[in-house]
Amino acid sequence: MRFNRRAILTSALAAISTFAAHAVTAQTAFPTKPITLIVPAASGGPTDTVARLIAESMGRTLGQTVLVENVGGAGGTLGMARVSKSAADGYTVAVWHIAHATAPALYDSLKYDVVADFDHLGRITDVPMTLVSKSTLPPTNVTELLAWIRANKDKATYGHAGIGSASHLCMLMLMKELGVQINGIPYRGTGPAMNDLLGGQFDVMCDQTTNTTNQIKENRIKGFAVTTKSKVSSLPDLPPLDSGAVKGFEVSAWHAMWAPKGLPKEASDKLVAALQAALKDPKVIERFASLGTEPVKPELATPAALKSHLTAEVPRWSAVIKAAGAKGN
Ligand code: ASP
Repeated sequence: MRFNRRAILTSALAAISTFAAHAVTAQTAFPTKPITLIVPAASGGPTDTVARLIAESMGRTLGQTVLVENVGGAGGTLGMARVSKSAADGYTVAVWHIAHATAPALYDSLKYDVVADFDHLGRITDVPMTLVSKSTLPPTNVTELLAWIRANKDKATYGHAGIGSASHLCMLMLMKELGVQINGIPYRGTGPAMNDLLGGQFDVMCDQTTNTTNQIKENRIKGFAVTTKSKVSSLPDLPPLDSGAVKGFEVSAWHAMWAPKGLPKEASDKLVAALQAALKDPKVIERFASLGTEPVKPELATPAALKSHLTAEVPRWSAVIKAAGAKGN
């Protein structure tokens, strides 16, 4: 075969210039720098766990680091206020949960509109919750635990992640069913609350499987029941509260991703695609399963599905919160 040197040189130059053009496009296309993912709760807690798994996977898809920043406090409203006021350029997003839907009923001084001030990127997972206690509490099953709470209503204490957090709502609903009020201790997230439960500083907590599964399995805390209507496969010994102790009881913490209102289409499309890819990532699926949860169905991981879910959840929770007489400020 004969080679034409000039032809080879010409095509090599053409290839180099095409490559260079692509490189320039790639450099200017979203994202060109790390993305900040705000978690409106303390590090080491259940939302932090979900967010870090998603951040890592999305970072691989987007070719940029997704840095998690924990902004806890006031039931997550401090972190979400920060997101709502951030530049809508795709470089600030949030992973938060059901508490975004409960905030309007709880906080009169909310500085943002939970629907109108955000771009809704997609749902992530619905995390079951568990009723747990410090390891030294006497009860050995859920019936005994509920009897113990009733009998000790003046001295029993529970930990939660702030007014309107999932751990707070779950206990409000449970106390309503039991007809007693016990003393709640607020934390900036159930990550730090769990540390105090391990140390025996308070008695009970209703927290997500993503934060409690390993502690229950390693007998560092006692697990009594799950808050879903069916059992959770990673904790097969725990009965649903609904199956006997508290008929009809059901609560889980749905998580989702938001951004400030008005993202450019390119950033929005890429973030949504990366989120959806994360929910199919075998590493994420495996880790979620070990913590008692799974990604939502693909049709729920979309901006439209999240917006309509949130819009329906706000009035649903307002009614529950009013009935429980809860108030954030
Ligand atoms: N999501 C909170 C946290 O990560 C817990 C909660 O809402 O109860 O700490």
